[in-house]
Amino acid sequence: MTTQVYDVIIVGSGSVGLPTAFFLAQAGLKPLVIDQFASPGQGSNKAAIGGIRATHSAPSKIRICLESIEIFSTWQERYGDNIEWYRGGYSFVAYREREEKTLKDLLKIQQAYGLDIRWLDRDDLLAVIPDLNQDGLIGGTYSPGDGSASPMLTAHAFYSRAREAGAEFHFRERVTGVIRRRGRVVGVRTDRGGDATGTVINAAGPWARAVAQMAGLDAPVTPDSHEAGITEPVAPFLGPMVVDIRPAPGSKNYYFYQHKPGPIVFCITPDPPIVGTDRRETSLFLPMISRRMVDLMPKLTNIKVRRTWRGLYPMTPDGFPIVGARKELSGYIEAIGMCGQGYMLGPGVGALLARMIQGTMTPEDEEVLTELSPYRDFGAEEKLK
Ligand SMILES: Cc1cc2nc3c(=O)[nH]c(=O)nc-3n(C[C@H](O)[C@H](O)[C@H](O)COP(=O)(O)OP(=O)(O)OC[C@H]3O[C@@H](n4cnc5c(N)ncnc54)[C@H](O)[C@@H]3O)c2cc1C
Repeated sequence: MTTQVYDVIIVGSGSVGLPTAFFLAQAGLKPLVIDQFASPGQGSNKAAIGGIRATHSAPSKIRICLESIEIFSTWQERYGDNIEWYRGGYSFVAYREREEKTLKDLLKIQQAYGLDIRWLDRDDLLAVIPDLNQDGLIGGTYSPGDGSASPMLTAHAFYSRAREAGAEFHFRERVTGVIRRRGRVVGVRTDRGGDATGTVINAAGPWARAVAQMAGLDAPVTPDSHEAGITEPVAPFLGPMVVDIRPAPGSKNYYFYQHKPGPIVFCITPDPPIVGTDRRETSLFLPMISRRMVDLMPKLTNIKVRRTWRGLYPMTPDGFPIVGARKELSGYIEAIGMCGQGYMLGPGVGALLARMIQGTMTPEDEEVLTELSPYRDFGAEEKLK
């Protein structure tokens, strides 16, 4: 093992690892990020479609994502990189009383947390999204403060600014062991050698369980695969991310939005889940989702699909991330299990971890960590994953 000593070693240069490296380096610490792939953001990060919302139903995720939105929305003005942030809002639509009730019940919780979200009846919703199928439309929620950005440009922006601030990166290197001595982390072993540190952050996304096991622990993160696609760019006609939570054969919800440069980007939640690490796209996805999308928005009929892809959600049993230090091994921290929301959670989680490591956490941060603790009872389920 080389003798290089880092303040923190982050396993994974993904949606979580990159912003974490940036905030740590900005605070004057010396982080090293190690990733098995050739460049930043090549794991789940590049599979994300770019949706960013604070309108969750759990305080921890709301707080983290409010901070993320602040970071995404001010990034260009602060650091100069265009990450294609667009505040188009989110809308969960209802065509049946069942979804109307679910969404309205949730709305009460979300409004109680001070989120800018409201219910729009049919005509008001059509004023915001004129191309929705009007047949049977009851209404929907609308949260104008939410938005979207490009996961690939974001990864690159965090990577570049983290390096400028002094973070180091090793690509094409795989972490194979977490080295411990007398109950403390002292370094990591890799397929190229290793490095010394007193703090390791597991930000290994869908592969997080294997990294936890390298530390002699376990973490309930199971990858499952989801497919997405992108169309040719067209003139702007759609503001918010549209989410339809009605189940249909083979799928739960699906969602789509118009990305700032013009393409429609879309994704579906398969039912039953497809557990595993297979990232090869299938021929089932496009017919399944395009039918649903065209039903919901007939205007999409003639738009050409450019590309589809498949990526992994790092799932936990309750749908909540796992963020916090493990008591069994001093210096080992987990920031894993981001499920389908790691891109939007990443910057807020990174900023939180930097405060945690510097010892500058607020009482709200402590509450967030309690909710996302690795030691919680994983029995509950979030109302809207
Ligand atoms: C189709 C699809 C659409 C999605 N849409 C959205 C969306 O709109 N909004 C949203 O917020 N989220 C979305 N997500 C979810 C999001 O992509 C993930 O939650 C997020 O990327 C997870 O971030 P992460 O940093 O935990 O993992 P990753 O981004 O995968 O990063 C983990 C990194 O760790 C590295 N690694 C793992 N093990 C090792 C090792 N032993 N040694 C070295 N390196 C290692 C990997 O190579 C990888 O680069 C979507 C996901 C999919 C698949």
